[in-house]
Amino acid sequence: RIAAVDGDATAGVHAFLHVDAEGALAAAEASDKRRAAGAPLHHLDGVPIAVKDVLATQGLPTTCGSKILEGWIPPYDATVVRKIKAAGLPILGKTNMDEFAMGSSTEHSAYGPTRNPWDQTRIPGGSGGGSAAAVAAFEAPLAIGTDTGGSIRQPGAVTGTVGVKPTYGAVSRYGLVALANSLDQAGPVTRTVLDSALLQELIGGHDPLDSTSVDQPLPSLVDAARAGATGDLTGVRIGVISELSGDGWQPGVMARFQESVDVLVKAGAEVVEVSCPNFVHALAAYYLILPAECSSNLAKFDAMRYGLRVTPEGNPSSEEVMKASRDAGFGDEVKRRIIIGTYALSSGYYDAYYGQAQKVRTLISRDFEAAFESVDVLVSPTAPTTAFALGEKLDDPIAMYLNDLATIPANLAGVPGISVPAGLADEDGLPVGFQILAPALADDRCYRVGAALE
Ligand code: GLN
Repeated sequence: RIAAVDGDATAGVHAFLHVDAEGALAAAEASDKRRAAGAPLHHLDGVPIAVKDVLATQGLPTTCGSKILEGWIPPYDATVVRKIKAAGLPILGKTNMDEFAMGSSTEHSAYGPTRNPWDQTRIPGGSGGGSAAAVAAFEAPLAIGTDTGGSIRQPGAVTGTVGVKPTYGAVSRYGLVALANSLDQAGPVTRTVLDSALLQELIGGHDPLDSTSVDQPLPSLVDAARAGATGDLTGVRIGVISELSGDGWQPGVMARFQESVDVLVKAGAEVVEVSCPNFVHALAAYYLILPAECSSNLAKFDAMRYGLRVTPEGNPSSEEVMKASRDAGFGDEVKRRIIIGTYALSSGYYDAYYGQAQKVRTLISRDFEAAFESVDVLVSPTAPTTAFALGEKLDDPIAMYLNDLATIPANLAGVPGISVPAGLADEDGLPVGFQILAPALADDRCYRVGAALE
């Protein structure tokens, strides 16, 4: 299937940056042998999976969609990858992404864009467009993404797949190349809610190698998905976020969203409108906190330790080598954020920008806390529009950032969220996503309500 539809940078879905057919077949054969021998098997043993190219995979290239890491082969596995291998899932390869996970369309990949399988003139969302497109195009039944501001949920929405951002700390970040450490979280991309529950249970759990990993078990996600699938949500209180609708939201997106809300009401849920007044400031706060963290994270790509090294002619100083390498290795969006972040953290501006953004972040967490006193979950459309055309927003960073309006608050507060397919918009026949957010460590509620919509 990958050979038939994936193509390359110039045509086809282009979900994969690297396909490991040999490794995947060897893992599949090992799985067959375990099965034949009657060995105890994990539920997902033998089910192929694709992994976003931001997670370290021992022996397989890991580029983060950037030229600066071209040719880097990690000597170790991310914890998520180690768990996947231990359960016997063959890894099909590494999926395309916006460079260092900065973007909402996968067009910022240094290796060419991924195309939406529903309409290859459209974007597959981002930054994890490769993982979502691989699942949507039936190239892989399961994939791993990472979500710092929406990069699992928004691609899920625009490709008609299920995407989950777990509670911050519920899945280890060890071996996940950091975009913004306080926001990043890896999670499942699948076709069904139950598949995501199985996959999150596999990759999640405490990891001593990640100091922000939560040492507390989550309620059973598989049980929650099964409970939701019965279609009975009696007693569940659902809040529709009033700030995440209105002007700028595509009518076809709002129509499918409303229909899904009606399904939840029929299932016995109690639905009310809830205001989260500080959510309107989430995007502004995020685009200070994220660049601040990533400008500091990306300082390690200095052409000395690994990755691309460009040596200018003559007898260049190490600083000149670093400058030339970073100039050639990083794309425009990455440079833009390094500059914003360095400025926001500079002495004299720190309090005005970074400090202020951190205060807004606290207010957003308080909005969630207040809302969750009266409802069990909050819901909204996942993204304001369906998949837009390739190239449409590439030269307009603000228009690109606005795609994440609805997904960013969850990352700022560390709460879990899921995007489930809500049907196709009337205007363009493209998929719409329905987002469900729950309190930290109550990921099971996202699964229960999500499964009721399938
Ligand atoms: N689109 C957002 C950004 O560009 C989210 C990225 C992400 O979740 N990795 O920052």
